[in-house]
Amino acid sequence: MKLSKTNYLVYRDCAHNAWMKVHKPEIYHDEPLSVFEQAIIEIGNDVDVRARELFPDGVLIRRGDAAGTADLVAIHTPVLYQPVFETDRYTTACDILVWNGTQGVYDLYEVKASTSGEDRKAKDDLYAHDIAFQALVLRENGVPLGRLNLVRLNGEYVSDGALDLTRLFTREDFTDRVTPILDTVAAEMDAAHDLIQLSALPAPPCSCIYKGRSSQCTTFAYVNPHVPDYSVHDLTRIGTSPKKLKELVDAGILAITDVPDDFDLSLPQRHQVEAAKRRRPHVDLPPLEVFLNEIRYPAAFLDYETFPCALPRFPGYAPFNHVPFQFSMHVVTEPDGDPVHHEFLYVEKACPDVPFVEALKRAIPAEGTVIVWNKPFEKGINAKLAERLPAEQEFLSSVNERVVDLMDVFSGQMVVHPGFRGKTSIKWVLPALVPGLSYKGLAIQEGATASETWNAIVTGELEADEAEQARKNLLTYCGLDSLAMVEIWRALLAIVAAREIREAG
Ligand code: SF4
Repeated sequence: MKLSKTNYLVYRDCAHNAWMKVHKPEIYHDEPLSVFEQAIIEIGNDVDVRARELFPDGVLIRRGDAAGTADLVAIHTPVLYQPVFETDRYTTACDILVWNGTQGVYDLYEVKASTSGEDRKAKDDLYAHDIAFQALVLRENGVPLGRLNLVRLNGEYVSDGALDLTRLFTREDFTDRVTPILDTVAAEMDAAHDLIQLSALPAPPCSCIYKGRSSQCTTFAYVNPHVPDYSVHDLTRIGTSPKKLKELVDAGILAITDVPDDFDLSLPQRHQVEAAKRRRPHVDLPPLEVFLNEIRYPAAFLDYETFPCALPRFPGYAPFNHVPFQFSMHVVTEPDGDPVHHEFLYVEKACPDVPFVEALKRAIPAEGTVIVWNKPFEKGINAKLAERLPAEQEFLSSVNERVVDLMDVFSGQMVVHPGFRGKTSIKWVLPALVPGLSYKGLAIQEGATASETWNAIVTGELEADEAEQARKNLLTYCGLDSLAMVEIWRALLAIVAAREIREAG
C-alpha cells in the first residue's frame, strides 16, 4: 500500500489516526464532512485554480495519471498543473511545476489557501514537511528539481475591484527550509509507510487518553470504547493540566460523576463536577445579578451571518474577510416585554456592505445594550465594515461600545449546567436552559451551512424555487439565533428570581 502525502501529514499528527484513516475509513470518516470542512476544501480548490494564472498555459494532469506526467516531464513541458508522481512506496501530486530552461530544472510551487498571519511558525513547519515529501518523491522519480516555493494569499492585499493576482499571492522560496529536513522527512516517510502496512492498530494505545477533548479526533471513541461520552476529558481546561488528567485516568476515574470530592480541581472544574453529580445547575448569583442588572433597555439581541471569502469578492475586501449578508435582531424594551423582531438578508450579487449597515441603522435602537453571543465576532465584523465604509465609522463604533456578550455568563461560570458538558456554545446552552427551543429539525442548524447556503443563492447554483426555500431557511435559522439569546436571558432572569425567593424564604 502506497503512502500518500495526505496520509503522511496525518501520520505526523498522530500515527494511530493515520492507521485508522487507511484501515478503518468508515470510522475515520464516521461523520460526513461538515459543511465547514467541505467549504475549506472548496476554498483550497478555488485558490489553487486562481494561482495557476500566475503560470499560464500549463497542462492540467488528470487525477492519478503518473504515466502521463512522466511523459510530459520527459519533454520538459513548460508548466504542469497537478502533476502526479509515484514510487514503489509513495504517491503525491504537486500543485504547479515550472520548467526553468536556463537551469535545466523544474521549480516546484505549492499553493496554500492561507495567509501568513496567525500560527505562521506552525504553518510554515507543516508546509515545509509537505513540500519535502513532494521533493523526495520527485527526486526518486529522477525529476531535476530547482527551487521549492510556497504560494499563499497575501493578507495585506486589499482588492480595488478586479483581482491583481501578482499582489493577491505571495511567492516564498522555501528551499532553505526544506533542504535541512529532507533526511528527517525521509525517515518519517519510511516509518509511516511501514505503519500503514500493519494489519492491526499499532501499540501502545491511543495517547489522547491523556489529552483534553479538543485534542481528540473522531476515532477516539472507537479506540477507547471504555471511556464514557461525558468524561473527565470534558472537564473545562483539563487539557492545560495534563498531570491531573493523567492522575484521574490512571486511577480508572473516567466518568465525570466519579471524580472524588477531594480531588484537586480548579473552581470552574469543581462547579462542573458538582453540577453533573447533583444533576442540577450551579449558579454564582452575585456576578450573574451584576451582569443582568447592567443590561440597559431597549436591549437588542443581535446575531450576524457572514460568508468568509478566501478570494476577495468586492472592493475593499482582503483575503478571508467576511461578507456580512444577514442579521437578526430581537429588541426588548423592558424585562417582561415581548421582543420585536427585525431581520435583514441580502441575496443580490452585489456587495451587501451598504444595505447591511443601512438596515442595521434602521433597526437598532439608538441607545440600550446590544447583546450578542461571542462578541469578538460581531464587533470584528463592525470594525471591518467601518474600515470599508469610513462614513459609518461613528455609528458602527457606537454599536460596538454598547455590545455585551451573553456567553460571558457561561464562560465566566456564573451558571454551570450539567447539560452544557463543559461547553459554552449556544448550541449546548440553549437546549439545557430552554428545552422547548431547539435547532433540531431546522434545514440550517449552524453558521457554516448558513454561509454556504447564501453563497449558493448569490452564485446562482440554485434554481429559483430552491433559492426561495434557501432564503426562508436562512431567515428561520438566523431568527432563532437571536430569539435563542432572548430566551436564554429570560431563563437567567428566572433563575435569579427563583434564587432570590428561596434565599428570602
Ligand atoms: S484520539 Fe488522539 S491519539 Fe487517538 S487516534 Fe485520535 S488523534 Fe490519535
